This record gives sequence, C-alpha cells and structure tokens, in this order.
Amino acid sequence: MLSFLFRFFGLFVLAWLFQRIMSFFLGASKNKRTKGNAASPSSHMVKDPVCGMYMDARLAVRLDKKSEEFYFCSEECKQKYLSDPAASQSAGSAASR
Ligand SMILES: [Zn+2]
Repeated sequence: MLSFLFRFFGLFVLAWLFQRIMSFFLGASKNKRTKGNAASPSSHMVKDPVCGMYMDARLAVRLDKKSEEFYFCSEECKQKYLSDPAASQSAGSAASR
C-alpha cells in the first residue's frame, strides 16, 4: 500500500517537473518571438509634414513625389499638402516653434 503511494507520488513529481521544464522552454521561445515581432514594425515611424503627427508607416497615407516619399495621417492632410506644399511646410515649422 505504501509503495503504491510512493510510486504515485513519484509519478506526480516527475509530471510536475516535466511540465515545468516544458513551460520554461516554451516560455523562453515565446518571449524571443514576441520581442522580435515588437521590435521590427514599430521601428519605422514617419512624420506628417502638414500637421506634424508621427505614425506607423503602414497606417499612413503615402505620397510618392519625384524621389521623395511623404506620409500623411489622413487623406485630408495629403490634399492640403498637394494644394500648397510650401504653406504646409512653413506651418509645420511654425507649430514646432
Ligand atoms: Zn495630418
């Protein structure tokens, strides 16, 4: 009877140890993955030249002009920039002053 209990207890401890080891390895690999994912997309932040807002390049409205690329927070800002690029640039410097 006692030996049966000891065996049962031993199995329980082994299962617990196995689970802990597995969770340790799974947790470590998960942490590495999430860290890698978090670092790459947020690194590319762009500035809206019209209102001066910073945003993720993937969410921004893009405008290709000659060799340059511009990003805008909305279609409205893009239209403002297209209608008068010089005015929006001076407005941006005035806002930062
Ligand atoms: Zn904007």
